[in-house]
Amino acid sequence: MPSTPSVDARPWSIGRIRRAFFVMLRQWWDSDYHPEGVEVVKAKEEKIDMKRTMPFILLHTACLLVFTVSWNWWVFGFAVAFYFFRMFAITAFYHRYFSHRSYSTSRPAQFVFAVIGNMAMQRGALWWASTHRHHHKHSDDEHDIHSPRHKGFWWSHIGWITSHRNFPTDYTRIKDLAKFPELVFLNRHDFFIPVLVLAGCWFSGWLLQTFVPSMGVTGAQMAIWCGVVSTVALMHGTFFINSLAHVFGGRRFKTTDDSRNSLLLALITLGEGWHNNHHRYQYSARQGFYWWELDISYYVLKMMSWLGIVWDLQPVPARIYSEADRLRQEGRR
Ligand SMILES: [Zn+2]
Ligand SMILES: [Zn+2]
Repeated sequence: MPSTPSVDARPWSIGRIRRAFFVMLRQWWDSDYHPEGVEVVKAKEEKIDMKRTMPFILLHTACLLVFTVSWNWWVFGFAVAFYFFRMFAITAFYHRYFSHRSYSTSRPAQFVFAVIGNMAMQRGALWWASTHRHHHKHSDDEHDIHSPRHKGFWWSHIGWITSHRNFPTDYTRIKDLAKFPELVFLNRHDFFIPVLVLAGCWFSGWLLQTFVPSMGVTGAQMAIWCGVVSTVALMHGTFFINSLAHVFGGRRFKTTDDSRNSLLLALITLGEGWHNNHHRYQYSARQGFYWWELDISYYVLKMMSWLGIVWDLQPVPARIYSEADRLRQEGRR
């Protein structure tokens, strides 16, 4: 006698939809929740995970809300300032500290760095560091998760970040960071700080509207410009290093990848545009190797070292400068 199909076997049954919805909510809350198992997720084909990408899509769509609020120069200024504040957190904390450990700091400070970095809404510090370390290990080979050479420009820019298999944090790559439970907790619950940021933007606008009405600022303007538009611009500014910085610009060093140096990208990312330098020597706290290579993140880190917040900023070794000199002379011949 043929068996009756179970409720879950039907593709659009109420049971399946309800379960998918609760899995989605739980994964937003806990990024380490993988009911199928991490290995199954990692083995999936490169395809967009709509459930987990929904906040990213909603944030982009919400940019259209700028047409519902009036223009205000104060708000625009706050949005630009918030962009650069969080860009510094991505470059100096997520990238140069958590991914490369190019300087040292205290345990409380590293937690604060992870919280501030999380305000950029680019997931947790440990996830960010694990995917970035993978990029350096496989830069522009066939295993690189965001290589324009192998997967095309758009995949290297935003495709990879939406893909099923790139959501789990690979804790084996970040054992040095995973031993701190407070960092693991923050990484798992990486949705919490972004929600606070959005609410905080609205609330700061409400405070200005209530107590300094002459500025003409509203809660809605601040939520849309600082919470949404500034964040989306910040995402793409960061993602340009994965995409454009492997396509556009000059190459000082003959690295095996396609990394490039670009002043334009260095300006919008506070110093990350010197990407060919960085791929040649990733352990240095500075990425602009010379005084004329503008690297705002490094200058701020230097100031933080004078205050004792960070220390042991790793320098560029003399052998790397010698190599650059040799390549420059060869180029003149
Ligand atoms: Zn790269
Ligand atoms: Zn790096």
